[in-house]
Amino acid sequence: MSEQEAYGPVRDNRMLLQDIVQASGDFEDPAAWLREMDIVSHDFPYAANLIADSYYEWREGQSALVFADSWHWGVLNYKGQWINNIQFSQDYWRPQWEAAAGISLATGRTHTLQDNKDGQDMRILTIPVFSRKDGEIFALLGCAMPAGQYEQGGAQTAEAMALHYRTCFYRRFEHVFVSDLAGVHQHAERESSRRSLLFQIVQRMHDNIDVDAVLTEVIGSISAMYPGARLELFMSQDHRSTHPQVKPLPMVWTSNDVCAKAFKDGKVAIHPGDRGFDRLEDHQFVEIGLPLSGKQGVYGVFHMIVDNPSLQGIDLHFLSMVADTAGTAFENAKLYERSNQLIRELRMSNELTQRLNQSLRLADIFQFAFEELLEMFGADYCCILHLNEEKGGLEVVACNYQPLRNMILEPGKGLGSMVYATGESLILSDYKENPGMTSQLMEATASQSLIVTPLNVGGEIRGAIMLAHRDAHYFSYDNFRLLQAMAGHIGLAVGNARLHAEVRRLANRDSLTGLYARHYLDEEIKDRQSTDFCGTLIVVDIDQFKTVNDTYGHQKGDKILKQVSEIVKSSIRQGDIAARWGGEELAVYLPQLGVQQAVYVAERIRKRVMVETEPTVTVSCGIAEWSWTDDRVSVESLFYRADMALYEAKNNGRNQVVIDTKKNETIIKNPWT
Ligand code: GH3
Ligand code: MG
Ligand code: MG
Repeated sequence: MSEQEAYGPVRDNRMLLQDIVQASGDFEDPAAWLREMDIVSHDFPYAANLIADSYYEWREGQSALVFADSWHWGVLNYKGQWINNIQFSQDYWRPQWEAAAGISLATGRTHTLQDNKDGQDMRILTIPVFSRKDGEIFALLGCAMPAGQYEQGGAQTAEAMALHYRTCFYRRFEHVFVSDLAGVHQHAERESSRRSLLFQIVQRMHDNIDVDAVLTEVIGSISAMYPGARLELFMSQDHRSTHPQVKPLPMVWTSNDVCAKAFKDGKVAIHPGDRGFDRLEDHQFVEIGLPLSGKQGVYGVFHMIVDNPSLQGIDLHFLSMVADTAGTAFENAKLYERSNQLIRELRMSNELTQRLNQSLRLADIFQFAFEELLEMFGADYCCILHLNEEKGGLEVVACNYQPLRNMILEPGKGLGSMVYATGESLILSDYKENPGMTSQLMEATASQSLIVTPLNVGGEIRGAIMLAHRDAHYFSYDNFRLLQAMAGHIGLAVGNARLHAEVRRLANRDSLTGLYARHYLDEEIKDRQSTDFCGTLIVVDIDQFKTVNDTYGHQKGDKILKQVSEIVKSSIRQGDIAARWGGEELAVYLPQLGVQQAVYVAERIRKRVMVETEPTVTVSCGIAEWSWTDDRVSVESLFYRADMALYEAKNNGRNQVVIDTKKNETIIKNPWT
């Protein structure tokens, strides 16, 4: 495409002249105005070419004249000097013409000299040529004619011919004048249409605050300007676009890649080099790399392929102005998007932390985090891994892929474990393309995109958060960053919950014996009574402990109390609850167990205490049970009955186990001692 086509039609000279004349205002008729235009004395030194060119033209028109062969012509400048570039005429008569010209210049008339050449009598004339407005001599025509023809009115003929020359001169003068004027105007018009096009593009681009719309706009603008060109845009970073002509920057460039060069230098590049058009003649197609750059860097590069002939019509300067504009608009849109993104992230992290703060239970926190993350990222799957020290591994504490829930992961296997072990976040845009990495979640859910971040709790990595999507390239780098930020909040909440749990654990424990506190036992029994069928309470009291204290001192007494507690703890099943009931009295609740079995537990304790304590002490036990067939057994009455049984054991001589008499009359009195 030519420049004319690119910027719209350029009007012809006549129309332009009309415009210029109308703009000048004084002349109705363009021809009249043009006639007023004249060569003036300060133009004379520069008029040699014009004089010579019109001279050739004039001479060509004379070839048909009868005397054309016998007359000789030449042209001289306003100083009466030979015009050097005249090749038309021999310069045989030059000295005579220059001599005559001096006189013509002085008199303002035709001057004639006599001369003789090869025996022929000749007349040598110089005829002044006057400018049309001021009547100044701007050139002289030299003529040499045989004397005979001179006598027959040759001088008048020559002067008439000189008038014709003058007409030829002015015709050419006007032509050159108008052409120059038109050239200037065309240039100005082109500039203005270029500017207005650029302005429109700029305006449209800056009207768009959406990054993708800016790209669509610029691709559209360039494609419209050069419809024959093939255009694509390679974008760096992880800018995703739905536009079919926008592609990610290739990972590897070939060494002479025009895009790589443009991207690296931030300047327009042409293949095979940017030394200019003349070097490109052999190539049928020409590649242009055009960087999309803003103030903060280069974001991408336009790749244009045009066939060589159309290249002349491509205005690289203009094209790079469009690309620059696009770069700035893109940057603005990007900044706008970024600030929106930050606001969104702030809002989301606010929502998440608010939600997380609603509970101090670890299970709740994982559930909330899981729900929020799924929604926040639009992920298909979310999986939260948390270290379970008791079970000795990473546990899947939340996951919407059911089969993985509550699973304990094999250490060192899978991507979640890897992130947990290394403490490094991970982003995978295409799972299939990373055969070295295997993940149960990804395999099972046929997902392609993954982001994983470690879960840092109080400076210690205690898990990992995984988000997966079935589409490849689903998560952006911003998503990746956001997940890391969110993991920070979740880690804090987990830390708080852990602290809270620890505080609660401490509050439920007796510090001396490590057994549960009485209130905890109370609550547990109450809870169990609402779900279980039966349960038994054993109250264990050290015999004559006051005497032990008195004999060995309080500190020794404490040690014995601890020994007894350890015996109690190691004599019961997991799930049974041993507590310090108060002072030197301990209590054990055996859920789902009747008195008959409880007696064996109590006996085991009693006997072990007798054997294992140092100094030796004995204990007495009172046992009471409840079952769902009883009418309402309150915790208090259960304790009361166990206490009554204990009281009886004490009364009966201590170091024995007594079952609540109200229900069972059986009393075991030291059967083995
Ligand atoms: P018995 O139960 O056999 O009737 O006699 P006892 O001496 O054990 O009973 P009593 O209730 O009169 O005394 C309980 C004693 O236990 C009183 C107190 O000095 C001692 N005691 C209670 N709590 C602790 C404790 O935490 N450490 C120590 N060293 N002694 C304690
Ligand atoms: Mg006692
Ligand atoms: Mg006591």
